[in-house]
Parts: sequence; C-alpha cells; structure tokens
Amino acid sequence: MTQTLEAEAERGFEPPSELYVDTAYVSDNSLHDQQERGTELVGPARPAPQHFKGYAADQFNVLNNKGYAVCPAGKKSVHRCLIDDSSSKDGYYRYEWGHHCDQCQQQKQCSNRKNGRRELVVGLHHDLLQARRIEMQSDEFKERMHQRSGVEGTVSESKRGYGLGRTRYRGLEKTSLGNYMKGAAVNVHRWIARLL
Ligand code: SF4
Repeated sequence: MTQTLEAEAERGFEPPSELYVDTAYVSDNSLHDQQERGTELVGPARPAPQHFKGYAADQFNVLNNKGYAVCPAGKKSVHRCLIDDSSSKDGYYRYEWGHHCDQCQQQKQCSNRKNGRRELVVGLHHDLLQARRIEMQSDEFKERMHQRSGVEGTVSESKRGYGLGRTRYRGLEKTSLGNYMKGAAVNVHRWIARLL
C-alpha cells in the first residue's frame, strides 16, 4: 500500500482523504501511519486473538494515551511498561493488574498463568484498533463499506473476465499498464452492455 501511494504521489496525485481496504491492511500501525498522512483508513479490523480461550484484548478498555487499561472486571491496571522489541518498529505496552487479580472472581476466564495474574500486551496504537472494532458495529460504518464491496465486485469481474489476477508481463510498469488496459476493457464492455 505504501509503495502504491508513493508511486501515485510521484505521478502528482494528492494523498487520498479516505482509503478503503480489506481486513489484511488494518492494524494499529497502519491506522496510525495513514492518520499521520492525513488519510482515513476505512476497513474492518480482525478480531483480537483469543487468549487461551479466555478474555481477548478487545474485552479490555485500553487507554494508551492515559497510561492505563481497564479490565473486564472494571479494574484499572496497576503497572505499564514499554517493551522495546527489535522486530517491531514501535514496540509494545504491557499492562498488569497485579493484586487485583489475586481475589478476582473472573481469574479463570482471564489468566492461565500460575499466579493467576493477567498481563495484556498491545501495540502502541492499540487505541485506534480498539476504536475501529467498536466503530465496525455501527450501521454507518457498514454503509460506508458498501463502497468497497462494489469495488470488490469489479475486481472479481476483472479477474474472471479479463485475467486481472495474472499478469502476462514482467516488471511493475508493464504490469501496471496491463492493469489499466484491463480496466479500460471492463469500462468498454459495461458501456456496450448499457447501450444494448
Ligand atoms: S483476573 Fe485480573 S485482569 Fe482479569 S478480570 Fe480479574 S482483576 Fe481484571
């Protein structure tokens, strides 16, 4: 996506104000990166990974900007640390609830650690992902995603009818040109169908 946007910028296009994408492109970092560029990334987020069949991250209210998270039992975390992971460009936050977990009725659904204390590891921009997971439930968001579903239909038509899924050329430039020609063919086909 970054490469495509850079190529468009080189051709003199303004950055898009909205970018419609599928689930694979939506992460805490991609939401943040696009926000920094002034672009709203519009797409559904994956559900949070399940924690040993217990409470997943989306059952916590994470407030990275305030420095704490609230667990499903309504308790504020007692400790947060920044994990500087060399494999990630940003690192992670780890939240802990310490003594709150010791007497918690929900401990078995929440933690599988020996001492029963839950730790939650989230990205630095998890707030954005969390907000998206909530927003996805709204009718307004579902309505907005209809636009993308329409484009998805066109891509599918282009693949089935015009071989968009497989390039006949080597190199991005020729492949791009081939894709534009296939797009033009779809338009001409639709235009003739409409006239008929
Ligand atoms: S085990 Fe700890 S983190 Fe989990 S719900 Fe209970 S108090 Fe909250």
